[in-house]
Amino acid sequence: MTRAFIGLGSNLGDSRLAVAQAARRIGALPNTRLVRSSSHYLTPPWGLHEQPAFINSVVEIDTSLDPRALLDELLRIERDAGRVRDGARWGPRALDLDILLYGEDIICAAALRVPHPYLAQRAFVLAPLAEIASECVVPGQGRVADLLARIDAGECRRLESLPETEPSA
Ligand code: ADP
Ligand code: MG
Repeated sequence: MTRAFIGLGSNLGDSRLAVAQAARRIGALPNTRLVRSSSHYLTPPWGLHEQPAFINSVVEIDTSLDPRALLDELLRIERDAGRVRDGARWGPRALDLDILLYGEDIICAAALRVPHPYLAQRAFVLAPLAEIASECVVPGQGRVADLLARIDAGECRRLESLPETEPSA
């Protein structure tokens, strides 16, 4: 089993539900166990500012899926969650799932780069990651807590946890 961290984000529809459901689906993947989930964070939009704020979270898993198989499963969960019924059309994606860390692996392929390339610059990744794994070392970059200390995470607001409800879908 390899310890991996997945970053979750959504800014369309019921983002907190989408992120909570995605965490459950990740935990239900074959040969995979959900170890820990961070809180949800309300974070300002990155890059393009004319869009709603994001809900972000990070989950830790133990998995024996290899990185490519894990990515394929995450992209499938993204597709399922991002589909918004609008007559016969499928709406925009409502969920982003990124492999942040996969053990101590460094992967530099066209379709998969691990550690995630912008991890060390993004408060919306480092804040939730530090909540559950501050001592974890990002290969080639250092401790999560040290990376977080170097950036301004003031705009990422940690939210109260949701009451435990069973989603209907
Ligand atoms: P971003 O997450 O950078 O905003 P997208 O989610 O649209 O952009 O990008 C999806 C593509 O990014 C995937 O099809 C995948 O091949 C590629 N990718 C590269 N590295 C990773 C990674 N570590 N985790 C998830 N997707 C990745
Ligand atoms: Mg992505």
